[in-house]
Amino acid sequence: MSRDRTNRNLRLSTRAIHHGYDPSEHQGAVAPPVYFTSTYTFGTVEETEAAAAQGGLLYAREHNPTTEILEARLANLEGAEAGVVVASGMAAIGTLILSLLSQGDEIVVHKTLYSNTRSLMKGGLPRFGIKVVPVDFTNPLKLARAITSKTRIVYFETPVNPTAKVLDIAAIAAVAHHVGALVVVDSTFASPAVQRPLEFGADLVVHSLTKYINGHGDVLGGAVLGRKDLVAQIHDHGVRYLTGATISPMAAALIMRGLKTLSLRMDRHATSALKVAEFLEAHPAVAWVNYPYLKSGDSYSIARRQMANGSGMLSFGLKRGFEGARSLLGHLELITCAVSLGDAETLISHPATLNCARKKIRPEATLAPGVGEDLIRLSVGLEDDADLIDDLQQALAHAS
Ligand code: PLP
Repeated sequence: MSRDRTNRNLRLSTRAIHHGYDPSEHQGAVAPPVYFTSTYTFGTVEETEAAAAQGGLLYAREHNPTTEILEARLANLEGAEAGVVVASGMAAIGTLILSLLSQGDEIVVHKTLYSNTRSLMKGGLPRFGIKVVPVDFTNPLKLARAITSKTRIVYFETPVNPTAKVLDIAAIAAVAHHVGALVVVDSTFASPAVQRPLEFGADLVVHSLTKYINGHGDVLGGAVLGRKDLVAQIHDHGVRYLTGATISPMAAALIMRGLKTLSLRMDRHATSALKVAEFLEAHPAVAWVNYPYLKSGDSYSIARRQMANGSGMLSFGLKRGFEGARSLLGHLELITCAVSLGDAETLISHPATLNCARKKIRPEATLAPGVGEDLIRLSVGLEDDADLIDDLQQALAHAS
């Protein structure tokens, strides 16, 4: 009997477990099989020709049944027509841009971006004749002035890495669409369980699947989700011959396993992160805290409109600034110093310390505008929140 739950009116947590997979098509296997093969065979020359002509199963850089279940599932959760899954979040961003932009085109980006996206924008794209214009998207007038007839993409993250500040997707999309530019949102800090940018006017959503969607810190992946014609272009040009950034089917299967618990995990991340943010806000050694769902914060009203909860990411600064941040990180006993996010483990990082280290190899390295030397980024994990607060409390005693 067919168990395809694809066309039923199911809710998000259910779809994260079932969408796009029918066990009866896979010998009854409840967990989707991992198709480890680099190529596919056909009976005859004519059948091979037909498969190639129809974009069917021919070679694993372009098609893999395991990856395709994940693509369909993620697209469904975002409310997208289609999706493409690649080897990492940076592969998703690079493949998207190289597929959709050409020499002479312009891309307008928010001034604060994930450090490697910023490197791509600053150092990478100008080499290919693509003009990158960074502006402050919190000011719609500045954005409107930065857009020209050559602007093809308006690109930003929300919440922003590493500040966790929130940008207004609908307001930015209205300005961008006025001149026909595509709106691309990196929604990695939220995941589709918390925020679905397409509902607010975005054309494409990018995810580092490495973060919340996989959620277990053991695999890399990336996705672009959105309009069918754009995703087809990214798949047929970008993945096929521009970057070839295919994901391994094993990684796709692990991400699909993580995805099954996404809603549960995001609820827990958000509940704990709010408690941690409120604790930090009340601590005398802390100068400021950014968390989307902190009532006193400037992100709160937009966050309430476009996010189901505040997710698990926050940033804060200590009154003792740069030195205080280093001291805090040096005294933590439970919270792990590491650069990733969205894992079960609570992870903390201090971008200014990383930047000092990076400068030794790349002297031109700078912090993104909007990121101060005092900023500490915290990815609140799934441990008991009281243990996290206890650890911060004891470490803050050394950083005051
Ligand atoms: N986008 C954001 C917001 C990120 O935080 C990251 C990684 O930290 C990426 C993209 C890149 O993802 P990946 O590390 O999977 O290449």
